[in-house]
Amino acid sequence: MTEDWKNRVFLTLNAGSSSLKVALYGAYDDTPIITGQADRIGPEGTLKLKDGEGQPMQVVAGDLTTHDGALGAAIATIRTARPDLRLAAIGHRVVHGGAQYTAPVVLTPEVMEDLGKLSSFAPLHQPHNLAGVRTAMAAFPGVPQVACFDTAFHRGQPFVNDTFAIPYRYYEQGVRRYGFHGLSYDYVTGELQRIAPHLMAGRVVVAHLGNGASMCAIYRGQSVASSMGFSALDGLPMGTRCGQIDPGVLLYMLDQEKLDTAQIRQILYNESGLMGLSGGLSNDMRSLEAADSPEAHRAIDYFVFRIQRELGAMAAVMGGIDALVFCGGIGENSRVVRRRVCERLGWMGIEIDHGLNAQGSQIISSEFARTTVMVVPTHEELVIARAARAVAGVPAKEAA
Ligand code: ADP
Repeated sequence: MTEDWKNRVFLTLNAGSSSLKVALYGAYDDTPIITGQADRIGPEGTLKLKDGEGQPMQVVAGDLTTHDGALGAAIATIRTARPDLRLAAIGHRVVHGGAQYTAPVVLTPEVMEDLGKLSSFAPLHQPHNLAGVRTAMAAFPGVPQVACFDTAFHRGQPFVNDTFAIPYRYYEQGVRRYGFHGLSYDYVTGELQRIAPHLMAGRVVVAHLGNGASMCAIYRGQSVASSMGFSALDGLPMGTRCGQIDPGVLLYMLDQEKLDTAQIRQILYNESGLMGLSGGLSNDMRSLEAADSPEAHRAIDYFVFRIQRELGAMAAVMGGIDALVFCGGIGENSRVVRRRVCERLGWMGIEIDHGLNAQGSQIISSEFARTTVMVVPTHEELVIARAARAVAGVPAKEAA
């Protein structure tokens, strides 16, 4: 490595409504030097940072009532601990790149204006993401900043997966099935290309099962179907989000229950999914598995059922399936969900080895199964860091 790049680092930022996730990477090493998260930004804000060994860092006191303050405290902590590091570029997670942005983009005033116009498509996420960008721009003038989009991975998908069957003018207005979790799918396909390129040449379904959950059908490396649609509500049920729903239910809530849009939004985003189905027991799969009660069972049963339905549909649109990949907090850790999803799917060539599944091995399918089933831990931050490295012009390792 040349001296020039030894101490230069790349910051990734993921700004949500009341949280801020940060990670710091070197020019070549894919293990983060520092990771951190500010939660409940406001009167009860907290900030935690860990070094590369996972050890908690002594946080420099700061104002955790605003995103600006939380970022300032995170930066001050990093600078105090590692005064030797120099910031080369910053990467941001931005949920929506619209129809236009199909790859990471360097943030300029013009790009910011374009992205601001997409806020009406993702009102709960996009304004916070962009506020995070503005905060970082003010804190680090002159440092290149790049946006990485959760929608970009799906932008090449076929029209039939991109549209709804409503008057065509809505499609032209941008009411499309954008699909999300694209940074995760980007990472997982990159890993698959590295560890099993023969699978990437074929038909893969990736199930990103976390607090937010979605699935993506990937044919020869290209997204051809996604379970999330126009918003991050569609598709699979999630921690507190409903997943696919008949729009007639919304009309019922509006017409019969006389709920307004704020009340419906609250139900669909915050009171549904695992939380809603379990009667308020929990949005957290670990707790539901531990509870082992009828309420918990009906939530897990529905979760598994929808994943299996989606899996069948995705295999159908690709004319078969060569690999199923689990990722996300549930996909990576819940042997129960993985086992149950794979049950009775022998007709698809899916058959798991229970020992390998219990160990959480990289490959969990039986030796002679036709379809490979894998667990690939996802790293969305690393995709952002790599985009920041590219913008800063980090030379290839061999040349360094
Ligand atoms: P987010 O979408 O917020 O990034 P994560 O990917 O961290 O969420 O996933 C969180 C989910 O993963 C929670 O439902 C949590 O219970 C589940 N999870 C984490 N570890 C386990 C485990 N060992 N067994 C079952 N579920 C787990």
